[in-house]
Amino acid sequence: MTFNELGLIKPLLSALSEQGYTKPTLIQEKSISSILDGHDLMATAQTGTGKTAAFTLPMLQRLSKGERHGTAPRALVLTPTRELAAQVQESIRTYGKHLKLRSFSVFGGVKINPQIKVLRQGIDILVATPGRLLDLHQQKVLDMNHIEILVLDEADRMLDMGFIPDIKRIQSRLPQEKQTLLFSATFSADIRKLAETMLIEPIQVDVAPRNSTAITVSQKVIPVDKGRKLEALREVVTQNQNQTLVFTRTKHCANKVAKSLSKSGIDAEAIHGNKSQAHRNRVLNGFKNGRVAVLVATDIASRGLDIDQLPRVINFELPHVAEDYVHRIGRTGRAGHSGEALSLVCSEEAKQLHAIEKLSNQNIEREELKGLEPKSPLAERREGKPRQEKSANSAQGRGRSRRGGRRRSNANRSKAA
Ligand code: AMP
Repeated sequence: MTFNELGLIKPLLSALSEQGYTKPTLIQEKSISSILDGHDLMATAQTGTGKTAAFTLPMLQRLSKGERHGTAPRALVLTPTRELAAQVQESIRTYGKHLKLRSFSVFGGVKINPQIKVLRQGIDILVATPGRLLDLHQQKVLDMNHIEILVLDEADRMLDMGFIPDIKRIQSRLPQEKQTLLFSATFSADIRKLAETMLIEPIQVDVAPRNSTAITVSQKVIPVDKGRKLEALREVVTQNQNQTLVFTRTKHCANKVAKSLSKSGIDAEAIHGNKSQAHRNRVLNGFKNGRVAVLVATDIASRGLDIDQLPRVINFELPHVAEDYVHRIGRTGRAGHSGEALSLVCSEEAKQLHAIEKLSNQNIEREELKGLEPKSPLAERREGKPRQEKSANSAQGRGRSRRGGRRRSNANRSKAA
């Protein structure tokens, strides 16, 4: 399938070809025409699948048809982190470069006044983290009465970060008649519940097998004693000097790892919530342009990092929540490129490892490092072979026949329920 066949307009097609995109990714193929038709959409797609363009392209196309009411934005994209907000806006600007739509991103941790100034000039698309958006709304500089399209990006992460009350508050201030699109990397009962309260007869798209890891990523576990992880990391990083994103569970550990690598002459930096926005931007740009070879991040800080073709992710510590492993390794092997995900695992983490293997339905290959073989061996998983995943691809939902026109309002819907 081509972008042309999806019904995209010329200014978008030109921007895509300038980006060098030759064909849509699976999530784009499955979402774009439904969004263009005005349907609500609930998509399960990991970062790296091309999900940003999947909602940005049809959103731009729909907005290109109408007019702004004064300064009030017509589309709102909510993201869990400032990095993701900035990145989504960059994508909007890239894909919308031949359209006359203004976009802007707002998030906390930076001064609010410059943001107020831009909002007062009027914008069409606002990308925001929930807290700052509510601040701006309370200060009466933001009119949310003309939002036609609402996007919840990385909804599962917003849920994990406790943003649901904020999202509900935002939702109550938006017009009832609008199109809502929800994207989530994983699919839990809580996400389903959220979707039920926010979406009307959504088309459902599921491009990654549920809770499975990206197939373009080769995964390996390196069993190593806890006290020798830093040595093991240094060894792996110097053996093969690929650009690397290292994950730790805590900010403290991220700092410790970055410091230790720097001491050994490796260009490493830590990025996490305690660092200022300026620091985060500087480090991220350094990593993008290759000045920083190793970026050490916590799970939350890593959300929204869009680094093209990142070749390697290393888990210095396994996450407590198995789903986070899927998010972490989704940072490599993006958009069809292959990547490597290594996990330094000590015997104390056997339980987390087994939970990850169970969730992602696989046994990850073990490979010890010479000279760093663990004294305490890693317990094997007991359950035996993983079961075969049933086909989980592409569940197109109901409501297909109702192409076009907008539908029952939320009020009617609750009456019907
Ligand atoms: P996302 O899943 O939105 O984070 O996108 C992952 C990466 O894929 C980004 O770096 C995009 O620039 C890139 N990308 C998105 N759509 C396409 C496409 N159709 N062809 C090639 N690359 C793409």
